[in-house]
Amino acid sequence: MATMFSTPTTATTAEIVSYDPATGQEIGRAPSVTAEEVRRAVARARAAQGEWAARSFAERGRVVLRAREIVLAGMDQIASLISRESGKPVAEALAMELVPTLDLMRYFAHRAGRLLKPEKLDLGQYNLMGRSSEIVYRPLGVVGIIAPWNFPWAIPLGEVVMALMAGNGVVLKPSELTPLTGLKIGEVFARAGLPEGLLAVVTGEGPTGAALVEAGVDKIMFTGSVATGRRVAEAAARHLVPCVLELGGKDPMLVLADADLEAAASAAVWGAFANSGQSCASVERCYVHESIAAKFTARVVEITRRLKQDVGTREGTDVGAMSSERQLCIVEEHVRDAIGRGAQVLIGGGRGAAGQLFHQPTVLAGVDHSMAVMREETFGPVLPLMTFETEDEAIRLANDSPYGLTASVWTRDIARGRRLARHIEAGTVMVNEVLYTHGIAQTPWGGVKDSGIGRTHGRLGLLELVSPRHIHTNRLARFHDLWWFNYTPQAAELFRGLARRFTSGSLLQTSRLLPQMLRRFRERRG
Ligand code: NDP
Repeated sequence: MATMFSTPTTATTAEIVSYDPATGQEIGRAPSVTAEEVRRAVARARAAQGEWAARSFAERGRVVLRAREIVLAGMDQIASLISRESGKPVAEALAMELVPTLDLMRYFAHRAGRLLKPEKLDLGQYNLMGRSSEIVYRPLGVVGIIAPWNFPWAIPLGEVVMALMAGNGVVLKPSELTPLTGLKIGEVFARAGLPEGLLAVVTGEGPTGAALVEAGVDKIMFTGSVATGRRVAEAAARHLVPCVLELGGKDPMLVLADADLEAAASAAVWGAFANSGQSCASVERCYVHESIAAKFTARVVEITRRLKQDVGTREGTDVGAMSSERQLCIVEEHVRDAIGRGAQVLIGGGRGAAGQLFHQPTVLAGVDHSMAVMREETFGPVLPLMTFETEDEAIRLANDSPYGLTASVWTRDIARGRRLARHIEAGTVMVNEVLYTHGIAQTPWGGVKDSGIGRTHGRLGLLELVSPRHIHTNRLARFHDLWWFNYTPQAAELFRGLARRFTSGSLLQTSRLLPQMLRRFRERRG
């Protein structure tokens, strides 16, 4: 693994350069790993995986916990690296990347064994026939993880830990914008004593990711945009490689008339502007009941005005730089389009003064669903506010999107909030919360509609990283099955009876077939 996270080997000619988006300064370089090297990394991970899979959950957990200690000890340096590579404030790197992953490492190190323990199935009347079934969960082999730049530590690290705890080898491809954070993950596990080759970090651009999909892995865990997700799914389908796709979002926040206005306004500001709005679960659309809209809007603007935008490594920064010029241009385009169609800028609206890649936290009013800012993923610090009159209208607006990652409902009436939550098309709906459940290791994460396929985190996420195998046992094998050869007229009559009575699920009904069954046994013996 060493060659994958240090200076390029002779086989690797090209490099990618990592820049600090807040200052434009180079932070470091990483190899641009070729397709051939990716294939070799997969082969090495496969060679190391058998021995790793043979270890107990407790043994695997000890390595993860050692890695956790290394992360804890180097927490400030890691947070600073994340901040410099992605532009986010150090405080945010700590709160949104370090805290959740330290918790996740502890959780899966201790719980993976219990979450993947063999399961006995209830077979109904088959149990009475001496049959039993259990599901055992086997590792997949080698899992390919392709990660984005917006949470360059938390997203890949969580999946690496889960895949390793499930007994797999892993090849991780971080985003070209944040390769050094990706390499740091590899370094932490190497220092923790993970078997050589079991985890490889292959840095590079899009083609390195594409090569990973083609390199013979057993599953792809992809997080990124819808467009790239489709390409990954197509390539994976050609090899019959299953994939989990964690894609974009256009997450709505519904603020009902009875909401705690102060809490909802602060949540909207944090949900929209944390990470400069570059979270798949950012609040991208906010719908407010018309009766409270004026007050709510005034509070949102006031709270936004107090935010300090600066370089992420400076203490006290609330909103940092955006991660790339490309993303900043999309944000500008959405704001321009909204203004052109009649939206009003209540605060912000343009580039921030702290440096080149800053966009001011921006609040828009007078928006509607004809505007890109309400339909396409903005992925920047923009909070468009729109009003609604009825619950039905709020739900219709929330669901009027090709995306369905997360959503939130704000109300003092929890039962009402939960009722509404069931009508919203999203993988996660929060009542009186925004954005943060990716940080809870126990809960599943994933979207519906264009927001993706499959889950990560929680037991559902762990199950994506194993192959369920069914083991079926017959303890009464000496009584040959009634449905085996030969198919005499008497047998056919019994099968008609089974169709009518046994399949009803009623023991009483099935017991009426006993005389026919006995005749069939006698027939078989004769
Ligand atoms: P991209 O889709 O551009 O890239 C994601 C990853 O895929 C990167 O590592 C990228 O490499 C790699 N990649 C690029 N082309 C290919 C290819 N042909 N085959 C395989 N891999 C490839 O997404 P971003 O990095 O721009 O991330 C932002 C997007 O991610 C947003 O849409 C956001 O909503 C979504 N996202 C979703 C989350 C979720 O949990 N649902 C969480 C976080 C983000 P490279 O960077 O080198 O081009």
